[in-house]
Amino acid sequence: MRIAILSDVHANLEALQQVLRALEHERYEALISLGDVVGYGPLPNECVQLVADAASNVILGNHDDALLGRTDIRDFNSYARQALRWQSTVTSPEAREIIATYKPYVALGDAFFVHGGPRSPLDWPYILNIYDARLHLRSLQHDICFIGHSHRGIVFDQKEDNKIKHYQRERIELEEGHRYIINVGSVGQPRDGVPDASYALYDSGERVVEIRRVAYDFTRTQKLMQDNDLPEFLIRRLQFGE
Ligand code: ZN
Repeated sequence: MRIAILSDVHANLEALQQVLRALEHERYEALISLGDVVGYGPLPNECVQLVADAASNVILGNHDDALLGRTDIRDFNSYARQALRWQSTVTSPEAREIIATYKPYVALGDAFFVHGGPRSPLDWPYILNIYDARLHLRSLQHDICFIGHSHRGIVFDQKEDNKIKHYQRERIELEEGHRYIINVGSVGQPRDGVPDASYALYDSGERVVEIRRVAYDFTRTQKLMQDNDLPEFLIRRLQFGE
């Protein structure tokens, strides 16, 4: 089975459309969104609708949850808070209804899909280093876990002897006996120094994960953010991917 995986669209329609265009040339049986369709960007309604049309499974992120008023935005930094406050004034009842159907996690075959991490997913944990990864691998019932949330594509790879290494790689050939946590990066607000949208393709038969990058016209997203007085910091970071 081939599964397309994307995460952290963050209301960036231009980036989402470019990823979906790239996927038109791919064969896949399922498309999974790992959460944070909203937050930060200028077009939340359009992104919620497009993800609903394209994805077979949509997982809840902390920004999605906060937009529904369930996760407290006082935990967010001031830029995230400001963008989310504005988004909550423009989000349609239809989009809210769709977001309310997002799941905390999904398991499919030998893989587990979640926004932050498999250990208490709705506390929105970050997996940033091997110590975090070890904790979450202990809670994980599956061999492979796909995550988003930090906006940085990174692989945590645990061998049979429990040693964990981490790396960034475009093509990951899954090894027998290893267990993995793989961050697919962000579609709408990458933070690894590259502005291109990030997504992944997982082939469970071939046991290969590919992390793909696709350029998009971020100036169009920036212009829409300017028109809506979104924070300058959030506008600028898109062109640097940080
Ligand atoms: Zn996010």
